[in-house]
Parts: sequence; C-alpha cells; structure tokens
Amino acid sequence: MDEREHRLAQNEALFREVNERVEAVAHRLGPGVPFEFLCECANADCTFRITLPLGVYETIRADAKQFVVLPLHYTPEIEDLVVQNETYWVVTKTGETGEYVEQLDPRSR
Ligand SMILES: [Zn+2]
Repeated sequence: MDEREHRLAQNEALFREVNERVEAVAHRLGPGVPFEFLCECANADCTFRITLPLGVYETIRADAKQFVVLPLHYTPEIEDLVVQNETYWVVTKTGETGEYVEQLDPRSR
C-alpha cells in the first residue's frame, strides 16, 4: 500500500465513522425508514449523500472491508466493485488496504 492508497483508504474510513453517528440516530426511527448516509468514497471533498434504509446500510456495514458509495464514486486502485445498482454501489477493499480499513473500523476497537 503506497502513501496515496493509504490516504484514500483513510478518507473512506473517516466517512464511515461519521455514518456511525448517523446510524445511531437512524436506529431510533427503525430499520425500514430511509435515512441519509454520507457517500463513503475516497474523495475527501465528496459531500454527497445516499438515501438507504438502515437495514440495507447495516448489511453492507457488517463487513468491515465494505463501503457504500454513489454510482461511479469508485477508486479501482484500492477497491473492487461488489454491488452495483441504481442508487448506490458497494465496494470492498482487498489485500493490505482491506486489513488497514478493518483496523480503522470503530466497531473492531
Ligand atoms: Zn462520493
């Protein structure tokens, strides 16, 4: 993992930490209510939101190497595309980057 990959992975992990807080609020509304999560892409300046029911976010989030991003907000050097649909894509980190983001997962601390 080079310096750039490291930084990109860190950006995504940071967005996920913010979403952890969004999720805490969403929990009170129930699993079927759509909620706005931040796009978890590698671009630190991205401020787009993705509307997802909590249950869907939870399914993606259950794997520490997976991130939810907007369609096309995908960085092939550091991730693989696993789910592609109209409103969101799911990416997964492999190799060293995967291990790194697992360490950064607030749920694994
Ligand atoms: Zn994005």
